[in-house]
Amino acid sequence: MKDKVYDVIIVGARIAGASLAARLGAAGLQVLILEKDTFPGRTVVSCPLLLSSGMQLLDEIGIDESLYAPDNKRFAGVALEMSEYFRTFVEIPDVYGRHYLYGIDRQVLDQALWKNLDRFPNVTQLKNFSVSALQMDKDGKVTGVTGMFKGGESQSFSADAVIGADGRHSVVARKAQAAVTEEITKYNTAVYYAYWEGVEPYQAQGKEWIQIHSGCNGFSAVVIPASNGLTGVLAQCRHDYFNAPAGVDEWYHHTIRSFQECFND
Ligand SMILES: Cc1cc2nc3c(=O)[nH]c(=O)nc-3n(C[C@H](O)[C@H](O)[C@H](O)COP(=O)(O)OP(=O)(O)OC[C@H]3O[C@@H](n4cnc5c(N)ncnc54)[C@H](O)[C@@H]3O)c2cc1C
Repeated sequence: MKDKVYDVIIVGARIAGASLAARLGAAGLQVLILEKDTFPGRTVVSCPLLLSSGMQLLDEIGIDESLYAPDNKRFAGVALEMSEYFRTFVEIPDVYGRHYLYGIDRQVLDQALWKNLDRFPNVTQLKNFSVSALQMDKDGKVTGVTGMFKGGESQSFSADAVIGADGRHSVVARKAQAAVTEEITKYNTAVYYAYWEGVEPYQAQGKEWIQIHSGCNGFSAVVIPASNGLTGVLAQCRHDYFNAPAGVDEWYHHTIRSFQECFND
């Protein structure tokens, strides 16, 4: 494997990396995908909603809905509450034949994305491998990567192209000195969330809804039922309002409690 030159090396194997690997694999390219984690592995920081447009993309790469939403409820849309001022229900329109959205457990989705790559013999998957450097030729063109397996063995791989799908703090982007083309810092939000058991989905108008409550004071709470009986409950605020002198746990519970009336309604 050491001397092989791949068409493409992809660093990072979650939503961006694994879906790209599936597309390139289907196109017949020789792909090596490297991931420092395992699947199922650590919980990635994300408590997402999946809309029909996202499900359509998963359809395109051959991932059936039952794999990422095994027992998830189909929500009609979002119940949006602005303090005591008004409440509205934002229904998901029928897009690509679906008129619902899901709350997703990233552990489940990410594992489905990784397993889907087993279908492509021309896609080589290596987990527990952390890329630390890029190889470059004398003209500065990237020709491969160097990194280390969890056990400590170092290895290099070569390819015609290297793609960084290694997240927000991308090593690939940093090492390639990629220019930042857009960065929005004005609306930074502090978010803490936990998965709760035994939370009943919010029902109104004969349907079930994801809940978003804004305090209209820079704080909000979001309730996203996902799979396996777990519900993501998010507390969030403008980043410059975040203040947790008694610790994050206390801040989280205090913020959720401030929305208690909405949840009881
Ligand atoms: C609280 C929260 C809520 C969110 N809600 C939503 C939502 O509702 N809907 C939505 O669409 N998005 C949502 N997002 C955003 C979404 O989580 C991200 O856009 C998405 O995870 C980015 O995917 P990615 O594949 O680019 O990167 P990541 O998911 O960050 O994956 C990068 C991968 O690269 C690997 N990696 C990193 N460095 C290396 C290395 N050196 N070598 C090898 N591997 C490496 C990591 O282990 C990881 O597996 C939310 C995010 C947060 C934080």
